[in-house]
Amino acid sequence: MRAPLPRRRFLSGLAAAAGTTGLRMPEAWADPAPQQPQDDYDRTAKLANNENNYGPSDAVIQAMTRAFKYANRYGYPDGNLVQELAAHHGVKTEQVLTAAGSGEILDVCCSAFLQGGKKIVGSDPSYSILYSHATGLKSETIRIPLLADYRQDIPAMIRATRNHYREVGFVYLCNPNNPTGRLVTTAEVRQLLDGIPSDVPVLIDEAYHHFVDDPSYSTSVPYVTEGRQVIVARTFSKIAALAGMRLGYAIAPRDLLAPMRAHMTGSVSAVVRWGGVTALKDTERQAWVKRQTIELREKARRDLAAIGYETIPSDANFFMVHLKRPVVPVIDAFRKKGVLVGRPFPPMNESLRVSIGTPDEMARFLVAFREIMTA
Ligand code: PLP
Repeated sequence: MRAPLPRRRFLSGLAAAAGTTGLRMPEAWADPAPQQPQDDYDRTAKLANNENNYGPSDAVIQAMTRAFKYANRYGYPDGNLVQELAAHHGVKTEQVLTAAGSGEILDVCCSAFLQGGKKIVGSDPSYSILYSHATGLKSETIRIPLLADYRQDIPAMIRATRNHYREVGFVYLCNPNNPTGRLVTTAEVRQLLDGIPSDVPVLIDEAYHHFVDDPSYSTSVPYVTEGRQVIVARTFSKIAALAGMRLGYAIAPRDLLAPMRAHMTGSVSAVVRWGGVTALKDTERQAWVKRQTIELREKARRDLAAIGYETIPSDANFFMVHLKRPVVPVIDAFRKKGVLVGRPFPPMNESLRVSIGTPDEMARFLVAFREIMTA
């Protein structure tokens, strides 16, 4: 066991790691850090941010290109994005809220539901930008450690919510979870919703929904139609490869969306609205990305197992590998070899998160992994 670092040194270590890898700091949304020159960036294997390295489909690019003629407008035809999303999920248009990425949905949940110092109940580690946003609002997160097999501890989340009932602004459930890739089953989601007071909102982040193949999992959108206090967050950043274009949305009952709408900035661009409508219908492309991602993920996990490294089973477009040594120097060694991998996720300080890239990028990852780990 390594001795724990003093907090300031730990944070500056994280900052250094983020700076050298050209990664966005986890603390908050920010402009991308100044990176290496464009050509260098283009040459790196980008396995750090759970993006979709194939890029948007031709149909999506064409739709966005056509929408550029609205670049000078505030009001314009937008392909009926909200109506299309409502139809896609079988909900009412008043139950849909679009945003500049699902990150904006997470942020406005904090702004809307943590007023008066209310708290989040959520797993740790999970998608920590949300917790950082809460900290910025002088709110706390009641963090529930993961179980030994890295699944989320639903009974502990229920207990924490009940014990702090009046202080809880909302419960956060990332499904599948980032950074582990592990899912929460349909039965467990129901157990959580049935186990906590029915007026506590539950934010269910389904950013990686499209990559799940396990029949024990299902979306939580039906709870919204059932009238439960559930907000489902979705993104076009992953399966649809539109991370740089910023589009996400929430599906939730009207009474939960009302306070959230008050904090929105209307920042979804005309261009990505058209891209989103096209991507939503591009089911063939989605199926191809899913298949390709799962195949490459499982191949990488097998390759690592063959050289003695354990990985965590994942249902997302990334996985974690246990390094048996501190992760920060390994992240830096990868960067020097032109491979960007995930940032540290304390307290999992000896685990590396690897996003699934193209076959070529995954081959580069494996070569670099062998070299770094045997050096
Ligand atoms: N939720 C989770 C679990 C994520 O991993 C991410 C991004 O990586 C987001 C939300 C935010 O995604 P975006 O704002 O690009 O939709």
